[in-house]
Amino acid sequence: MATIGIPRRRPTEVVVRVKACALNGVDMLLLDGRFPPPEGLPHVNGCEVAGTVETLGAAAKGVSVGQRVIVFPGFSCGTCEFCLRGERTLCLRYGYLGAHKDGGYAERVKVLAGSCLPLHDSVSFEAGAALPLAFLTSWHALLVKAELKPGQTVLVQAAGSGIGSAAIQIARLIGARVADDRRQRRQRSSSPKRSAPSGSSTTAPRTSSKRRRSGRTSAGWTSSSSTSAARRSSDRPTRSPRLGTLVSIGSHDTHWGRLDLRHVYSKNLRILGTNLGSILELRTLLEYVVDGRLKPVIDRAFPLADARHAVQHVLDRKNKGKVLLVPR
Ligand SMILES: [Zn+2]
Repeated sequence: MATIGIPRRRPTEVVVRVKACALNGVDMLLLDGRFPPPEGLPHVNGCEVAGTVETLGAAAKGVSVGQRVIVFPGFSCGTCEFCLRGERTLCLRYGYLGAHKDGGYAERVKVLAGSCLPLHDSVSFEAGAALPLAFLTSWHALLVKAELKPGQTVLVQAAGSGIGSAAIQIARLIGARVADDRRQRRQRSSSPKRSAPSGSSTTAPRTSSKRRRSGRTSAGWTSSSSTSAARRSSDRPTRSPRLGTLVSIGSHDTHWGRLDLRHVYSKNLRILGTNLGSILELRTLLEYVVDGRLKPVIDRAFPLADARHAVQHVLDRKNKGKVLLVPR
């Protein structure tokens, strides 16, 4: 493991003492070379950071030394047409902490002061580190992109993963129904007439038992089965508008998938992509965590020195919920 010194910050940046950093699928893409670090090597992984502010740049505003914070992981150029429209996640130069800049597999990380959100004393650093990417991505996918409404049904692929467990909680929080894929499979096997799940869908019900136990699924497989599972969409006003929506939030197992286009056009499906969300959304969902209405699922925490074992734990698909690195 390379030794990298204390990060040198710019005036608008702060140095955060890392208390917990969550592993993420982005890390795995970096490690196996599918997403080479844009700034080259050595590179420090880690998108999801919670810690305390250690030092402030001269122009850093809104935070104080010693403050508990979580770090919003996205950054944008602020000048391209998408940034000027306020759609920063579409920025032509959008990047992630830990992917496009050195991240939180470290004792310290430098970030923009404006990317820090106060972390309430009642929320542990470990829980805080599970929020910035996993919870925010699910929040944005379900509530902003899919426009999930109370009473609709959502299926969540990879339900045991950090993002999947977050999606289930968020769907229930707003009063949507989360389909139980195992029960549906039993019903299908005992009934000659299948009934597709209704409402917005980020998932499909048919997972192999091995994949379901691990809480992971293959993106290539789910893209096909999700369109098969999704209910028909309607252009007319209905009690549950916006049916038949598939939202893709990542492609960590493979970038390639198959779609049966007959399902897409015959059901009028909406197929959407999404990445991350806004810092305002992160602040909103953090309030639900403080209230105890959302609770990150933590699998286990490894010492930072055992990062290799933590990564292997995730690669072996042994985790159910977030895996964390905690510096001593
Ligand atoms: Zn931009």
